[in-house]
Amino acid sequence: MTTATAPAALTLGPGVMRMHRRVEVRADRCIGSGLCVGERPDIFRFNEEGISEAYGSHDEATDELGEVAELCPVSAIVLSEDEGTANA
Ligand code: SF4
Repeated sequence: MTTATAPAALTLGPGVMRMHRRVEVRADRCIGSGLCVGERPDIFRFNEEGISEAYGSHDEATDELGEVAELCPVSAIVLSEDEGTANA
C-alpha cells in the first residue's frame, strides 16, 4: 500500500507537549474523485497516477480537517495525532 502523509505540528508553548497532526490519503482506497483537491488544494494534490496525496504542513483545528476528510466518498482521508517531545 502506498500512502502520502503531510505532518502538521501544533506548538502549545514552552514546556508543553507538541501534538503532531497528520493528514494521510490511503492510495489503495482513493478513486481520484478530486473532491479533496478541489476543496483544499493547499492540502491535497494529484500525483502522476491521478491519486490524491497530502502535502505540506498544516496547523488547523482538528474539526476543520475532519470536515475535509468527510468529503471523501470512500473514506480514504485519515487524520491522526501523535504526542511529540516536550518543547525546550
Ligand atoms: S476525495 Fe477521496 S477519493 Fe476523492 S480524490 Fe480525495 S482522497 Fe481520493
